[in-house]
Amino acid sequence: MKKFIKIAAITIVVLIIAILGYTYIVFNFYSPTDPEVEVNEAAQKYFHKSYDKSRNAFLIQANNLNEKFDSVQLFSRDVRSNIDDNLIIDFCYVPAQKDAKKLIIITSGTHGVEGYVGSAVQQMFMSEVLTSGMLDDIGVLLVHSINPFGFKYSRRVTENNVDFNRNCDTEQSLFSSANEGYGKLIAMLNPEGKVNSECLKNRFFMLVAINELIKESMGSLRQAILQGQYKYTKGLYFGGLNFEPQLATLSEVFKDISADYESVFNIDLHTGYGERGVAHLFPNPIDDENIKSGLENIFEGYEINWGDSDDFYTINGSFTDYIGKLLSDKTYYPMVLEYGTLTSQSTVGSIKSIHNMVMENQGVQHGFKSAKDSLKIMHSFMEMYNPSSEKWRTKIMDDSKIILKKAIINYGDL
Ligand SMILES: [Zn+2]
Repeated sequence: MKKFIKIAAITIVVLIIAILGYTYIVFNFYSPTDPEVEVNEAAQKYFHKSYDKSRNAFLIQANNLNEKFDSVQLFSRDVRSNIDDNLIIDFCYVPAQKDAKKLIIITSGTHGVEGYVGSAVQQMFMSEVLTSGMLDDIGVLLVHSINPFGFKYSRRVTENNVDFNRNCDTEQSLFSSANEGYGKLIAMLNPEGKVNSECLKNRFFMLVAINELIKESMGSLRQAILQGQYKYTKGLYFGGLNFEPQLATLSEVFKDISADYESVFNIDLHTGYGERGVAHLFPNPIDDENIKSGLENIFEGYEINWGDSDDFYTINGSFTDYIGKLLSDKTYYPMVLEYGTLTSQSTVGSIKSIHNMVMENQGVQHGFKSAKDSLKIMHSFMEMYNPSSEKWRTKIMDDSKIILKKAIINYGDL
């Protein structure tokens, strides 16, 4: 009997060590594979190392459009800030060359740091997708860096820690939206004190998350975290206590430019969610069948994630939905084009993504334990939103070129 108890105890200890070792390795060495493509050097030139350099490159491509189209307008608006007088949103407007019927608005940097990739896609779009004769009855408005603070200072959020994609609405009631699921996860999502990437809790974050997963399903956990919250001002996915200053600025420009057009189609460019190297079409759920079928025609041949699969979530205060509310007299087609980086539909990818955000936010709010922690955490954060992989960048640019070209032609044919 004694021998049996001894063997059982040893088995349990070995099992626990095996589980700990397995989750440690799977989580800490997680690295989704790059797409199988040959690197295209030409695609790399659109990626730049700072907000200022990306902005300059955008303005150069925008200026080049004068060779292909008449009446191109370039203008900019400042975003009010307490720390930086040079936070600028740039606009490039190419009016329909003959008959103003349809307007496309392509926006980048809604989540600041995602602007590196968004800017690259916009530059490529101007240089390689837009060709003379393409815009007889379609106008194009490119908006560069909706959240310039986040872009410049490598954060997803604004200066007020606000996720701009949870901050957009026509009604103040947005800020009374409740999110009870989020409150239960507060200890996991918003730890306090200086962040130490080597501490046990971070090394075994996957077990912390699995503990929550046992209580709730992955779907409800993802929904609680991602839908947005309006209570914890230093927390992740904070949608604000009021509207961020650029919302009024953007609204004014959109109202003004869209005035002559019958329909408006927005593509809001994002990175971070979804399978690595894949361009996902992720609209917030749409009820109107005509709009859904219009979007299906625009993106013919591509899968649109309408929100009926397990890995989907809905959000409050979405920017692209807001444009539809603002321009309620127009036929409006919203789309989020999201470039996956960490294969976040998988359990490990999803937990890794959240962990990167948790540590970055903790570091910004409460400080980093050491310079090494700061470097390591910021590197992982940047790689999640602006992967340095040349294969990833090649795939994203090649796919975007085809998707955007088809979309603009199909939108014209609607
Ligand atoms: Zn985003």
